[in-house]
Amino acid sequence: MAALRKLLRSGHFARGACLRWQSTVAEPSAAHSPAPKSGGICFDLTPEQKEIQLLARKFSREEVVPVAAELDRTMEYPWELIKKAWGLGLMNAHVPADCGGMSLGTFEGCLITEEIAFGCTGVQTAMEANNLGQTPVIIAGNAEQKKKYLGRLTEEPLLCAYGVTESGAGSDVGGIRTRAERKGDEYVINGSKMWITNGGVANWYFVLAKTNPDPKAPAGGAFTGFIVEGDSPGLTRGRKEINMGQRCSSTTGFTLEDVVVPKENVLIGEGAGFKVAMGAFDRTRPPVAAGAVGLSQRALEEATKYAMERKTFGTQIVNHQAIAFLLAEMAMETELGRLAWMRAAWEVDQGRRNTYYASIAKGFAGDAANRAATNAVQVFGGNGFNTEYPAEKLMRDAKIFQIYEGTAQIQRLIIAREHLARAKMGLI
Ligand SMILES: Cc1cc2nc3c(=O)[nH]c(=O)nc-3n(C[C@H](O)[C@H](O)[C@H](O)COP(=O)(O)OP(=O)(O)OC[C@H]3O[C@@H](n4cnc5c(N)ncnc54)[C@H](O)[C@@H]3O)c2cc1C
Repeated sequence: MAALRKLLRSGHFARGACLRWQSTVAEPSAAHSPAPKSGGICFDLTPEQKEIQLLARKFSREEVVPVAAELDRTMEYPWELIKKAWGLGLMNAHVPADCGGMSLGTFEGCLITEEIAFGCTGVQTAMEANNLGQTPVIIAGNAEQKKKYLGRLTEEPLLCAYGVTESGAGSDVGGIRTRAERKGDEYVINGSKMWITNGGVANWYFVLAKTNPDPKAPAGGAFTGFIVEGDSPGLTRGRKEINMGQRCSSTTGFTLEDVVVPKENVLIGEGAGFKVAMGAFDRTRPPVAAGAVGLSQRALEEATKYAMERKTFGTQIVNHQAIAFLLAEMAMETELGRLAWMRAAWEVDQGRRNTYYASIAKGFAGDAANRAATNAVQVFGGNGFNTEYPAEKLMRDAKIFQIYEGTAQIQRLIIAREHLARAKMGLI
């Protein structure tokens, strides 16, 4: 963590009191702008946030971009990049300082995520899944659990994973069947998990299991969240799944057969698991949105460069309005997706409930990334369909942003529910 730690030690890490951001593209007038006034909206990152963004950008462009296509081809897990990112402090950003981390906010984490995603969203997902696995412990762990399991990840480049989905239940989390039974001071877990990012490489897992066997028990009290050691006897990892995109990240299932977990590894208490598992998304959906924006930004930049070079009918294709308008659409939605993740991240960093904004950001940016990648393929024409050019990978990689961490449809269900709750309270 040397690089980021040094930076954070170099001065007081000022969190913006207002929504602060800076476009990925340098603003021509920025050098002449007056200093931002305090209070209210301002569109500048703090100096520390800019440094974090630049550190992640440099790592992404110099280390990730050059190897992304090869990692996609071989589907090899990006261990070398993970180790380098860990060394720079680009992993474990949210781990509390007293556990060896940097206590960074969701906003700062998203700045890192967007930059890594620009380079390769397979690498970004591998890194981000670590945050996803940690978040239940960050929001619900006691001091001992945090020290032991979060601290471990800061001592050496180890990973964790979030194990909720099963082959029979993804969107419908209440339908999961993995069972945990209390036996004295321990729990015995039986079941299986599916589609777990970092499932094949995690040192430990957050596992959601049913502790109340009554089928009529409400989800709010029927499930318990556990920290499960990756080398637990009875835990067997499945093979790496062969996915459409983000192919270097590790998606696997794992089975639990009479896996014994001490009661000390229960988060909060029996019955609190559903709330913990769902509560994590308020902090992890903004970075998923930021990842989608990173991909959109890449699609926009690649398509723009190509459109300025490629000639048809005696002129660069960017001079055909139909192509320029595709770029304009991509630019609009990339900027809006960025604003959306910033709002969602900023809200939760203020200590406010951000479920509505997190789902808007995830839903919008995920869809926008798919439109941007499809448009990029279109701008590239036949070359867009070919693996020698970057656009087809972007299109394959984009799709998962509409599926994991709540599908595009589930985001709309949440947004509608939150919106209607506000309406009923007379807040709109
Ligand atoms: C690459 C990858 C990585 C993943 N990583 C993880 C991970 O790290 N940890 C983890 O726990 N899970 C992970 N998942 C699982 C992921 O979160 C689920 O796949 C996702 O939530 C969808 O669940 P499902 O696949 O069971 O689809 P289903 O829930 O069966 O949905 C099928 C379709 O029906 C729609 N649908 C379902 N219910 C409704 C409804 N009520 N209204 C309208 N439409 C509906 C869905 O939107 C979707 O289009 C990952 C999945 C993938 C593919």
